[in-house]
Amino acid sequence: MGLTSLDKTLIAESWTSADLYANLETLCDFGSRFAGTPSEAQARDFIAEKFRAYGLSDVRFDPFEYLGWWRGKCALNVVAPRAQTFDAIALVYSPSTPAGGLRAPIVDVGMGTEKEYARKRGALKGKIVLCSSANPEDGRAPHRREKYGWAVDAGAVGFVYTRHLPGGLPETGSLRAGRLGEIPAVAVSYETGAALKRLADAQRGETVVALDVQNEARPTTAWHVVGEVPGQTSELIVVGAHYDGHDIAQGASDDATGTCLVLELARLFAPLKGQLRRTIRLMAFACEELGVLGSTEYVKARRGEMKNIALMINLDGAVGGGRKGFTYSGLEDVETLLKKIARETGYALKLSERVVTASDNFPFFMEGVPAIMMTAKDNDRALGRGFGHTAMDTLDKVNERDLKECAMVAARALLRLAASPDSIGRHREPEEIKEILIAQELEEALRAQNKWPFA
Ligand SMILES: [Zn+2]
Repeated sequence: MGLTSLDKTLIAESWTSADLYANLETLCDFGSRFAGTPSEAQARDFIAEKFRAYGLSDVRFDPFEYLGWWRGKCALNVVAPRAQTFDAIALVYSPSTPAGGLRAPIVDVGMGTEKEYARKRGALKGKIVLCSSANPEDGRAPHRREKYGWAVDAGAVGFVYTRHLPGGLPETGSLRAGRLGEIPAVAVSYETGAALKRLADAQRGETVVALDVQNEARPTTAWHVVGEVPGQTSELIVVGAHYDGHDIAQGASDDATGTCLVLELARLFAPLKGQLRRTIRLMAFACEELGVLGSTEYVKARRGEMKNIALMINLDGAVGGGRKGFTYSGLEDVETLLKKIARETGYALKLSERVVTASDNFPFFMEGVPAIMMTAKDNDRALGRGFGHTAMDTLDKVNERDLKECAMVAARALLRLAASPDSIGRHREPEEIKEILIAQELEEALRAQNKWPFA
C-alpha cells in the first residue's frame, strides 16, 4: 500500500477506534498506577497483554531497581502565635521528620523564583519555606524541583508547597530524582497557603509551624513495557509515554492518556510489520513521576544502543484541547522535517523549539538522540498544571474527541517519520546539547535539580 492510502487508513482507524477510550477507562479504573502500588502492576500487565493482542513483536518487560517511596502520616500545625491545624500531604520523596516532628518559623518566598530566593537569602536558614506553585507571567517558569532545590541550598529545614489555584487541592510531585530529598516537604491547598502566608507576613518570622511527616522508602523494582513493529532496517524510532501516575489520583491526563496513545499506535502500526523503513519501538515508561527516573535508567543501561535511535517521540500529557503539534528541542533539522510533514499531510502542526526537561524525552535528548514531545495543551502560565498532579486529574476531564485527534496526528506523523528515506536529524555531540540548553536558559534550572552533567 502506498503512503497516501496508509495515511487514510490511519485517519479512519483513529477516528473510529473503540479501543482508545476503552483503554483509558481501564487504566483509570485500576487506580493511580503510582510506582510501587498494586495498580502499577495491573497496568503493566494490561499494557503487555494489549501489545500482544495487537500483534507487536518481542513484547517484554524491562525491569530496573529504584528507591520506592510510600506516604504515611502527615500533620501540619501552626503552634504560635495560636494553635491551628491544617491539611497537608507529603511531596514525593519527602524524608520523614525526626520522631516527634519538626518545629520552625515559616518564611514566605512567594512564587519561589531564583530572584525571590536571592532576596530572602540569609533569612531562610533553619526556617520552613512557604513557596507557591505560581509562576511569573514572563521569563522562565521554574519547576517545583528547582524551587525545592533552592530552599535546600538556602539552609531551610522544611518546605511547604502551596497551590496557586483556589479549590482546596494540594498539588503533589517529586522533590528529587530517584532519591530522598534533603528536607521534609509537604503540599497544601491554595486556601491553607493563603492562611499561612497571612500569618507569616503579619508575624514576621514568629509564626512557628510543626511538621510531622512519616514516609517509607526502600529499594524495589519497576518495569517498562516494550514492544516492536519491525521495519526493514534496525534503525529505531522510540515512541513512549509514562504509565505511572501520582498516588492521590487516577492520573487520567497525566498520563493515562499518553499511555492510551501508545496503545493506539500499537494497534494501528502492528499490521504494518516489515512495510516501513524504520523499526518502531513502543514503550510504556515506568517511574516518570519520580523525577523522570524510569527513562533515565533506561537510557543509562543502553548507551550503546542510542546511535541506532533515529528519533524519540514522547507522548506524555500529549492529549489536550489546543492545537496539536510537537516541541522539537531546538533541533533545526528535525524542525525542517516536521514542517515538511505538516505540508504533506495538510495538517497545521503547532511547532515549538522548547526543550522539555521534566519528561521522558529529556534523557534521550541528553544522549544526543533527536527527541521530540507531542503537545496539545495551550501553554497557560496562570493555570499552570491545571488539575494535573491533584486528586482531580480524573477521567471525566478527558475529551474523547481530543484523544482521537491526538491519536490521528501522532499516527500520521509517525507513519512519515518511519517511512522517510531521509535522515530525521543528526545526533548531537555533548557540546552542542550544552549550547542548546544554555541558549534556552536551562543551565540554572538543571543545576538546581542536580541534573547538569557538564563542567
Ligand atoms: Zn506526565
